Amino acid sequence: MDRPTRPGGGRVRGRHGRARGAARAVALASGTSALHLGPLAWGVGPGDVVPTSTMTFAATANAIVYTGATPYFIDSDPETGQMDPDLLERALCELKAEGRSVPAVVPVDLLGRCVDYTRIVEIAHAHGARVLADAAESLGAWHAGVPAGKHGDAAIFSFNGNKVMTTSGGGMYLTDDEVAAARVRHLATQAREPVAHYEHRDIGFNYRLSNLLAAMGLAQLARLDEMLERRRARREAYAELVADVPGVEVFQRRGDEDDNCWLTALIVDPKVAGFDAASLGAVLAAAGAESRPLWKPMHLQPVFAAMPHLTNGSAERMFRTGLTVPSGSALTAEEGERVAIVARRALAVRHAPVPVAGAV
Ligand SMILES: *Cc1c(COP(=O)(O)O)cnc(C)c1O
Repeated sequence: MDRPTRPGGGRVRGRHGRARGAARAVALASGTSALHLGPLAWGVGPGDVVPTSTMTFAATANAIVYTGATPYFIDSDPETGQMDPDLLERALCELKAEGRSVPAVVPVDLLGRCVDYTRIVEIAHAHGARVLADAAESLGAWHAGVPAGKHGDAAIFSFNGNKVMTTSGGGMYLTDDEVAAARVRHLATQAREPVAHYEHRDIGFNYRLSNLLAAMGLAQLARLDEMLERRRARREAYAELVADVPGVEVFQRRGDEDDNCWLTALIVDPKVAGFDAASLGAVLAAAGAESRPLWKPMHLQPVFAAMPHLTNGSAERMFRTGLTVPSGSALTAEEGERVAIVARRALAVRHAPVPVAGAV
């Protein structure tokens, strides 16, 4: 898609009265390729440090490593689960004192809620770093009246099969910066110079979105509102289910009017609930409903063990106590009802002792 599109505009315009989409969008093969080319277009490379959220999917950190830079993992705010702006500020001050080069920060919109861009962008810019928003999960979410994908200096979306809207595989780079957008498009198209004889001055990539998949994306975009409503309804149903279950709550439920409700997670406090997230997951699995722990934080991953991090225990606690539950907009009403029945039964486990699984 060469023509600039306006994600966050169009379909979701009604929400806050006006759409303010990014001026430029480049359709790419995946969210990961957008996370790779975004920093490259800014000249990020070996020797640079790029702070990012420790609570994310590995793709965010992998892409930073592809550029040759070093990811620096920042823990979550205990309240919101999103990148903690105070920790980011501390990390940037410490890195500056060490004389490190920090050209960019990549905050991640966890589970379809925007990070606190008001503070994070201000802090990053004050330290001379640009912000690339990993909005892979937050298409259709808002922060401070501005749609996801429009925050920071650039943003990325994913259209992978598990995301809010999908092209089966795909992604997008968004920015108001025409030079950066042109650079991303160039690098994504094998870095072919605009001449007939295939001239190359850069190492390029084959990161374009195919035209067939782009057509699928346009059809999905037309259904975006409806798909978001289904996910929200699913979250409401879970909130009702756990309303009178002590020790179990819907993660990020408070203040979720601006979320896209991409993936609903339950947080289980075993001391209050009498069971833990793993045993709830086991009961759900036995009844045929898939659930998973929240992601294992990046600073605990063997592959990133040598990378720097600044933590406060929040992400590790979320990993121990969180369970993501079926949330897809393709779930039928019947399937949703079946999950609800199973979950209701599973949540009753506290009345009957069940074996508590070992730590996840
Ligand atoms: C899905 C996801 C990605 C990767 O997107 P792909 O399109 O699968 O490459 C990156 N970051 C986050 C936070 C994601 O959830």
